[in-house]
Amino acid sequence: MILVDSHAHLFYEEVYANLAGKLETARRAGVKYILTVCTSSKSMHLNLAIAEQHEGICCSVGIHPTSLKGGYDAKEMIELSKNKKVVAVGEIGLDYHYQDEVPKDIQLHGLDEMLGIASQCELPCIIHARECFDDIFDVMENYPIKPSVFHCYTGTMENAKKILNLGHYVSFSGIVTFNKAAELREVAQYVPDDKILVETDCPYLAPVPHRGKPNEPALVKVVAEYIANLRGVAVEELAEKTYQNFFTVFPKAKFLNGGK
Ligand SMILES: [Zn+2]
Ligand SMILES: [Zn+2]
Repeated sequence: MILVDSHAHLFYEEVYANLAGKLETARRAGVKYILTVCTSSKSMHLNLAIAEQHEGICCSVGIHPTSLKGGYDAKEMIELSKNKKVVAVGEIGLDYHYQDEVPKDIQLHGLDEMLGIASQCELPCIIHARECFDDIFDVMENYPIKPSVFHCYTGTMENAKKILNLGHYVSFSGIVTFNKAAELREVAQYVPDDKILVETDCPYLAPVPHRGKPNEPALVKVVAEYIANLRGVAVEELAEKTYQNFFTVFPKAKFLNGGK
């Protein structure tokens, strides 16, 4: 069985401090490919270096909505996106849970710029969306965006249907295993085989029974097993679908598995 962690943050201290060990644990769990996702201008270079130094790892460039105040250089992002290991623009989006820290107008302006970069680079996006669905659909409509991933999905069934109608993908993290996530479990059963992805979002959001501990790519196996169980299929089958979907939505990653 080959698993893909479609969304990890390998540059954060909790993972990076023992990166070699965590990558080895991941490999033993069957996790062959990892997309390590950029969140800020500060993390961009380290994240790319991690991808360049390890087999089976690709990365993104992009500024998380809550990191926009740290500033960024759009030209540099476009330049870096030409690197063969950069397969997406992300994570970008809106997080209105934190609008006291980063006001809506700053978030909307940042998202505009990020979507502009993604359109120009012709790369898919990794979308972070929290408590913001009306606005995010409105802004995305203005750009010729490639099919993209709504990562760590926590929205409603209605918004999931909208995402799918727009041709995008839905990725699930350990949140799906949490007690209160009843509607999310319905969504995880509903998303079609050709639109579903799994991720850790490590070092955050470790799945039950590891909740509260630092998360790591190996635990994407727990998420996959849990969702396979919900959908009434073998984990091998879900792993195969999410593997195919990963290389379909991030076509630039195909060099990782020898494809074109
Ligand atoms: Zn996120
Ligand atoms: Zn993330």
